[in-house]
Amino acid sequence: MGKKVLIVGGVAGGASTAARLRRLDEEAEIIMFERDEYISFANCGLPYYIGETIKERDKLLVQTPEAMHGRFNIDVRVNSEVISIDTQNKRVKVNSKEKGAYEENYDYLLLSPGAKPLKPAIEGIDSEKIYTLRNIPDTDRIKEKVDKNNTKNAVVIGGGYIGVEMAENLKERGVNVTLVEAAPHILAPFDSDMVTMLEKELQDNGVALILGDGVKSFKDGENNIEVELNSGKKLGTDMVILAIGVTPDTGFIKSSGIELGAKGHIIVNERLETNVENVYAVGDAIEVKDFINGETTAIPLAGPANKQGRIAADNIAGLNSTYKGTQGTSIIKVFGLTGATTGNNERTLKRLNISYKVIYVHPVSHASYYPGATPLSIKLIFNDEGRILGSQIVGYESVDKRIDVIATVIRLKGTVEALAELELSYAPPYSSAKDPVNMAGFVAQNVLAGRVDMFMPEDLENLDIENTIILDVRTDMEYSNGKIEGAINIPVDDLRTRMDELDKDKDIYLHCQVGLRGYIADRILKAHGFKVKNLTGGYKSYSAAKFKPDENIDNKPNEESNKDGKGSGNNMNNEQKSNKQISKNVDACGLSCPGPLMKVKSSIEELKEGEVLQVKASDPGFYEDIKSWCKRTNNSLLELNKQASEITALIQKGNSAKSETAIGASTAGGEQGEGAKDNKTIVVFSGDLDKAIASFIIANGAASMGKKVTMFFTFWGLNILRKHEKVKVEKGFMDKMFGAMMPRGSKKLQLSQMNMMGMGAKMIRMVMKDKNVNSLEELIQAAIDNGVEIVACQMSLDVMGLKQEELIDGVKVGGVGYYLGEAEDSNVNLFI
Ligand code: FAD
Repeated sequence: MGKKVLIVGGVAGGASTAARLRRLDEEAEIIMFERDEYISFANCGLPYYIGETIKERDKLLVQTPEAMHGRFNIDVRVNSEVISIDTQNKRVKVNSKEKGAYEENYDYLLLSPGAKPLKPAIEGIDSEKIYTLRNIPDTDRIKEKVDKNNTKNAVVIGGGYIGVEMAENLKERGVNVTLVEAAPHILAPFDSDMVTMLEKELQDNGVALILGDGVKSFKDGENNIEVELNSGKKLGTDMVILAIGVTPDTGFIKSSGIELGAKGHIIVNERLETNVENVYAVGDAIEVKDFINGETTAIPLAGPANKQGRIAADNIAGLNSTYKGTQGTSIIKVFGLTGATTGNNERTLKRLNISYKVIYVHPVSHASYYPGATPLSIKLIFNDEGRILGSQIVGYESVDKRIDVIATVIRLKGTVEALAELELSYAPPYSSAKDPVNMAGFVAQNVLAGRVDMFMPEDLENLDIENTIILDVRTDMEYSNGKIEGAINIPVDDLRTRMDELDKDKDIYLHCQVGLRGYIADRILKAHGFKVKNLTGGYKSYSAAKFKPDENIDNKPNEESNKDGKGSGNNMNNEQKSNKQISKNVDACGLSCPGPLMKVKSSIEELKEGEVLQVKASDPGFYEDIKSWCKRTNNSLLELNKQASEITALIQKGNSAKSETAIGASTAGGEQGEGAKDNKTIVVFSGDLDKAIASFIIANGAASMGKKVTMFFTFWGLNILRKHEKVKVEKGFMDKMFGAMMPRGSKKLQLSQMNMMGMGAKMIRMVMKDKNVNSLEELIQAAIDNGVEIVACQMSLDVMGLKQEELIDGVKVGGVGYYLGEAEDSNVNLFI
């Protein structure tokens, strides 16, 4: 007869130990005790069964006692609770539903009792309307309440993984959910700058969030329960899900002599042995070493529990396996978004006084020209030697593979250098030639090499305003749609010509949207002797960090959502939705900013006052941009919905619907006043391709914001407006010579830098096409269609020997007086 091994707990850690041990030792007698009726069930799937994404209950039952016995010859005893351990005499006491109390002796004992939901001593906590979720019976109770009792409202207490998953799944069932979290943010493994994106996603999908407010008491009513918060706020609800964390389920071990930590976790060594010989422990009930910082911690996750079970089995079987620590790699779905993390976050590193650097990148999930690319936000934390300490990623797709690559590099003690060097699979539907993970490595390398000085959004709070310039190098339209307070705007493409507007004695804190244009601006300005810092992650990281949940979100029962069993989406007026006839549909999916706004602008112009436009876009920035655009242009945003990465907006031309139904613009990032002198004038002097593109992008951007734009073309700028084909006109010899020497039209223009005999111009056109940016010719046409006034300078036409017939259609000819008149009514006047 082989060794007799008793296992306490029949789910993740316990069942893995049992199966591995049998594979290693056919002779061992293995008995597995499980307090409940079920073994080896899918704890991680429970919220999705309640939400009905997992339709069949049986799917949750990965193993049955019979199957486990049949395949592994394991004596599985369900409904059998181990109530005490006598380590002196190597025996346990079992309380069995079937057999009553009895004892069983062992050679080896493996403990995997897991962790149970925390239930603090709060007044009213024992109400039947308060539910916790750990196992199948808990799941059945919650699902029954949601299925049968016509539950309309739920309050979820606790914004950890289980709380957030429950909030989403209840919402998916049509229940109105309020999520209450005592800490300033949900999902503690994430830093606040990253988790706000997930908070916003919850809110955008109709979950009301109350942060920084804990529960004071529960009061049971006849049909509902009232939750009183520390702030005094009272929430009446049909049910409460209590998910404020877990505590090790180790009460039965306390008097056994097995050493427990301060919070009741079992203390084990690297071989997962307790202080008592031949007694091992794994899973949520044990203390582990933090893989990054070496401190003792407890991280309740299924992956570590399963791996520890395997290691403990090895050691019981006589092999020598060790557990090197837990790095906390985890992932969560929050409606359309995914958040994932590995390693330490900033909070942990600060607490332990470990110095670190941070960068953010916001690349797209795969080649931007291949349909369906969506942005990823990656935060990378590393030390001065480049060793990666942690990472957090939020995005719509392929977040899992990126976090897993970084987790792997961390496990192999890799550096940012390794991230930059990794050769990863690439084809357009899956990635980019420079994978987002590589991009994070490149930026981190630049920081370590001192090529770029970064600053964090929070650094803006302590700036010496007198000696600092906050410089926004995004386009005028991006700037108008939301900006950092006090920032001035010089688009990156204008920087070389407008550098004299900046004071060299001041520190320049610059930013773009995601960090890339900021890096280019940083290089330009540094080369000219400016002192520059670049906001890591750009305005996107800044505005994400600024997100504050809207406490006034409409969280009343939503008839629509109850009918179809789906969440309500944004807090729109349903009556308004069903009554409105859509006059025009626009698909702007795949276009990046300002493309979708330009499409909205031109489409709304075709509609009559009161008619409704429906727009679909995939650029995530569109969700906020369209609110701001409607506000500025006096159109009414009737509805705004986000389904995974697709955003749908219903816009009514004019503001007749505004007072009752329109959705307000976000105030994040500040507002611009609307003055009377709100026109924009652009003098286009240069005939360089890049400058022409920049000027038309700005013009289109401003026009789509509803501004009157006048572009005044003079000298070399006139070449942009020339027709491509030769036009027969009467000219003198000199004029003919001059005309022949100059580029005829936009297609013949060259780049101001890196022209490389025309190669540069071809390359930039290719890149623009890849990135879904319109060509110069399309931009010109869009400007004309958008009502941008294109004026050719009469004097320059004469000097250059050009005739109006040689210019494209839609161009006016005007003098300097015309230009000055327009400039008078403008608050932006650019010279390009
Ligand atoms: P458990 O799997 O909890 O098993 C312990 C078992 O021991 C229990 O069945 C218990 O009844 C039994 N037991 C306890 N005491 C006794 C006793 N005295 N006698 C007999 N039996 C006893 N982790 C992830 O990594 N990803 C996820 O997406 C994820 N989602 C989750 C969702 C939910 C709703 C829950 C509850 C957990 C989730 N987890 C997730 C955590 C993961 O399930 C745990 O980390 C993992 O199951 C821990 O394994 P364990 O063996 O330590 O404990």
